[in-house]
Amino acid sequence: MAEVFAPHDPARCCLCGSVEDLTGEHKVKASTIRALFSGEPMMIGTFDEGARPRRAQSSKSKAFHFQSRVCVVCNSTRTQGADVEFARFDEAARELLAQGADPATAFDDPRYAVGGPPYLNVFRYLAKVLACHIAEVGGPRFTALVEFAIGRSDANLVSVRMGADGRFQFWFDHTGDPEFAGHGGLGATFSKRTGLANGFASSLTHGALRYEFGISFNWMIGLLLRIQHPTFHQRLAEARRETLAASDGASESA
Ligand SMILES: [Zn+2]
Repeated sequence: MAEVFAPHDPARCCLCGSVEDLTGEHKVKASTIRALFSGEPMMIGTFDEGARPRRAQSSKSKAFHFQSRVCVVCNSTRTQGADVEFARFDEAARELLAQGADPATAFDDPRYAVGGPPYLNVFRYLAKVLACHIAEVGGPRFTALVEFAIGRSDANLVSVRMGADGRFQFWFDHTGDPEFAGHGGLGATFSKRTGLANGFASSLTHGALRYEFGISFNWMIGLLLRIQHPTFHQRLAEARRETLAASDGASESA
């Protein structure tokens, strides 16, 4: 039986675990994601040196890079279908949002019948992004997540919520630049009852559309994470406490 979590190893592909043909930094769909911002709730990872949204022109070459390694096969054949499908889905969803409709109704297209290859590919893309976020901050490879991301499993763990990102209008009003894009780092959710992590989450914004996505897992997985990867589990907990404290401060000053 495959292990639930494989230890983080910077010398291995963060998706399949291979040591062969590793790419250097890899980009996730730089044509779609062109600028970065951070400051997401519960964020423990950041990318590049970015703390501010950036203009597409200046950031295109270095935006959305992950330091964690991915092998050539995972970066190409294993994930290309998902990349292409997500770009297609994203375009349809942003068009719906622009028309004042719920962007999630993009899933109503028969193309995205639940469980079909295009539907799974949309979620495989998000699974890959989440797996890269976990690796980026030294977290272990969550086997079920990465196997789904690279198409070795059809068991989708990822859920997504879509809506308008209020920051887009602010960005657009001040820059006239419609290419607003970015992502949050890695967030974790915790069970109040057990104090164990019970999920990972992140977000991605493209234009006015924001995706909040993540996975949740039961207490057994959370317990395993804490026992096998105590430092990582502790960092998640600390990051969450800091975020909660910061948001208390923010609401007081608001
Ligand atoms: Zn790989």
